[in-house]
Amino acid sequence: MAAVVLLVTVLGLVAMRPRELPRNPGLSVLLISIDTLRADALSSYGNTKVRTPWMDRLAKTGVLFAQAHAHNVVTLPSHANILSGQYPLTHTVRDNTGFRFPKDQETLATLLKARGYDTGAFVSAFVLDSRFGLDRGFDLYDDSTAALDQQSPFKVPDRVGTETVARASRWIEERGDRPFFAFVHLYDPHFPYQAPEPFASRHREEPYYGEVEAVDAALEPLLKPILEGSRGDRTLVILTSDHGESLGEHGESTHGIFAYEATLHVPLILRMPGVSSREVQAPVRHIDIVPSVLDALAMKPLKEAPGVSLWSLALGARPAEGFSSYFEALSSSLNQGWAPLRGLFDGRHKYIDLPLPEIYDLPEDPRETKNLAAREPELLHRMRASLARERARDRGVKRGEEDTATLERLRALGYIAAAAPAEQKDVYGEGDDPKNLIEIDTRNRAVVTAFMQGQIDDAITLARENLRLRPNMAGANLQLAYLERARGNLPAAIAAARRSVELKPLDPEGLALLGAYLTEGGRPREAVALLDPYVKAAALDYDVVTALGLARVALGQIALAREAFETARRLDPGNAMGFVNLGTLSLMSGDRVAALAAFLRALELDPKTAKAHNTLGVMAAQEGRMDEAIDHWRKASDLNPRDYQTLFNLASTLDRMGRGGEAEPYFRGYLKAAPPALESRDIERVRRRLAGSAIQ
Ligand SMILES: [Zn+2]
Repeated sequence: MAAVVLLVTVLGLVAMRPRELPRNPGLSVLLISIDTLRADALSSYGNTKVRTPWMDRLAKTGVLFAQAHAHNVVTLPSHANILSGQYPLTHTVRDNTGFRFPKDQETLATLLKARGYDTGAFVSAFVLDSRFGLDRGFDLYDDSTAALDQQSPFKVPDRVGTETVARASRWIEERGDRPFFAFVHLYDPHFPYQAPEPFASRHREEPYYGEVEAVDAALEPLLKPILEGSRGDRTLVILTSDHGESLGEHGESTHGIFAYEATLHVPLILRMPGVSSREVQAPVRHIDIVPSVLDALAMKPLKEAPGVSLWSLALGARPAEGFSSYFEALSSSLNQGWAPLRGLFDGRHKYIDLPLPEIYDLPEDPRETKNLAAREPELLHRMRASLARERARDRGVKRGEEDTATLERLRALGYIAAAAPAEQKDVYGEGDDPKNLIEIDTRNRAVVTAFMQGQIDDAITLARENLRLRPNMAGANLQLAYLERARGNLPAAIAAARRSVELKPLDPEGLALLGAYLTEGGRPREAVALLDPYVKAAALDYDVVTALGLARVALGQIALAREAFETARRLDPGNAMGFVNLGTLSLMSGDRVAALAAFLRALELDPKTAKAHNTLGVMAAQEGRMDEAIDHWRKASDLNPRDYQTLFNLASTLDRMGRGGEAEPYFRGYLKAAPPALESRDIERVRRRLAGSAIQ
């Protein structure tokens, strides 16, 4: 009897056996990644509160993978996985900062470029800036995010999805019938949740869902020609997200610390001409995307890639045996010195390797509430062994050899304290487990909220309390440094930035900030001593080279400063601020024509560069063109309402021109933004002016 049943099943499978995949070497490829999008936020994934009509229509005419997993929970490493088809163990990008995608690693862009495709990328957040190395292979890498001159540890510069989509659609339109590969990254669902209307009003209680609806609507110009026009017949579309969002689950408010399903489970939809729609329940992975694209285009599979083509599943075949998906969340280990999180999902059990280990039976316990680790020692042992086998291929979290030399130089300069740097610790206890530290993350978030509401003193008090609870957090020290600088307390800012560099000596962000504050605090010589060895020894970083240039400027070493700024420009040619720095230098050496050209170039690259407007305003004022000056300053202060120097220039010039009424709001803005410790004299003058007397 059993044999008969088996035979019938086999025959049934043969009868239902789908057609071959209609491979097509000339297909165009559109890869859409939506940052921070939970799988269960789409109506096609079962959400009943959210309307996502465009993504749903894509799902209805494509293959929806109900159980797709990411391998990282932050943006840059996850996109490196999606684009390369490799685990972070291999491509070695482990966090958003301090890592660069390797020059010898193939990606969809390099592979399709080699095939003669037109290749274009359109990204919406600084985290995917070309400087991090994912731009290789793209003819066009459009990463201009607004207002890089207002970068802070609190907010990643980004642009809205509608703008990114407009640029991508235009580029696709221009391709005509040529095959293209377009990578389009939208950032809207990322915190802070500030969706436009009507989406915001529809989700007052859960503003995240407003962003999800907004990003769905933003996709219309990209998806309409696919779903309604002829483009759908010659384009393979892949839609996924880099990671989800916790929304308070397991105590995590956003993403980046844990690797529960809230952030690891992602949507994945493939739409291929000639493949009918289907919902696949078998688990799949981000690293399977590249093999699937290559398969669809009848290209050779990648050598030594861990992923597999998903088309047999998409065409109805049964899943192969031996599924496994590696994942990690290393940011809080690298930035704050917490225990590193790594894990493995075998299609049923999910193992999270931490000082307090966790195992969940996902089909039984999808919300991960019953930890089986203590109850099932055999299972724990088996999962640990599987993870160890996967990790045997790890090329390391540490940076290259050249950085060892840099570390030695920093040690000689006294920058590496007695306490071992966080990232070199190799034994972690329960106290380092992120589950025991998630409270601190919530508190760190309160610091950000206070800062964004303009309550800098409160933010500093909260930040200091957090550091009392757990002092060795490089990232939290960096935030404190930024806050102290905003309050005008440079010595305190320098002390906090120094502590951050001690804890994480090779972090370009910390080095650049400390260097900049030393220069600002009248100690440019120390800044050069700090940054010069780094620039000589290690892989060059735009921010570090720029900070070195600014220190050279302060020392009057104009030629060396220019050398540094030119290097920075080569590292990131599309960066508007690079031209602002070169322009400022030209202005200092009296070359007003070169300065003007540089500032205009900066505005061409990014019309929202406040600093370029401010300096063009100063130049116009010096040359007596007051209306033009006022026009630039107004733009600068609209773009950056906290730039007190611009506000002062604008207000006092309007005042002198007899336009006191217009000046007053800007004077008041100045009083709000100016740090008392640096601006006490002008603050007093402005107060008197607003009280009725004329300004001298
Ligand atoms: Zn992301």
